[in-house]
Amino acid sequence: MSFDELDLINPIKKALQTEGYTKPTPIQAQAIPLVLEGNDLLGCAQTGTGKTAAFAIPIIQLLHTSSHQQAKGTRAIRALIVTPTRELAIQIADSFAAYGKNTPLKYAVIFGGVGQKAQTDALAKGVDILIATPGRLLDLMNQRYISLKSINLFVLDEADRMLDMGFIHDVKKLIAALPTKRQSLFFSATMPPVIQKLASEILKNPVKVEV
Ligand code: AMP
Repeated sequence: MSFDELDLINPIKKALQTEGYTKPTPIQAQAIPLVLEGNDLLGCAQTGTGKTAAFAIPIIQLLHTSSHQQAKGTRAIRALIVTPTRELAIQIADSFAAYGKNTPLKYAVIFGGVGQKAQTDALAKGVDILIATPGRLLDLMNQRYISLKSINLFVLDEADRMLDMGFIHDVKKLIAALPTKRQSLFFSATMPPVIQKLASEILKNPVKVEV
């Protein structure tokens, strides 16, 4: 299978060529069409399988196409990616920057352990896609720097690690603050019962993808 079979828009195809990607990884080949069709997704995949591009590519495409466009002159966060660590958040942001570089989409990345000023300044300029760790996200929501009311795409990345790191309460608070009408993607390397339960609280009629 090649990227040409995935019906990607030209700005993304060009960006993937620049990255030197010749064909989709198995998780990408499975997940990209399902996400573009609007499905919720339960992805069982480890880091290193190309799972970041499996969600970043269709999110960029969905946000760039007309059905997801917003009123002129406004810019609200429409896609939220929550991940457990600062390192992962930065990697994911780099991926969005690379695959979305030929689109006008704007993104920001926020995480704890550093001052919040640079992050709130970036948010104030307007972003379409926000990549965040849970604690700082809740913190900035409580301070009213962030509203989740326009989110229509939500990704929970590395759910099992999120649990191991004690973020379950934060994650549940976040979920409660999301619009109920949304598309959600859930990724975890392992699927023990506690993770399956969390997934069932977040996803609606998910399609399962395993690599
Ligand atoms: P991830 O599993 O998302 O952390 O990605 C692992 C690595 O694979 C990253 O360095 C990506 O840049 C790279 N990668 C992702 N998709 C592809 C692809 N289709 N072809 C070549 N490299 C890729």
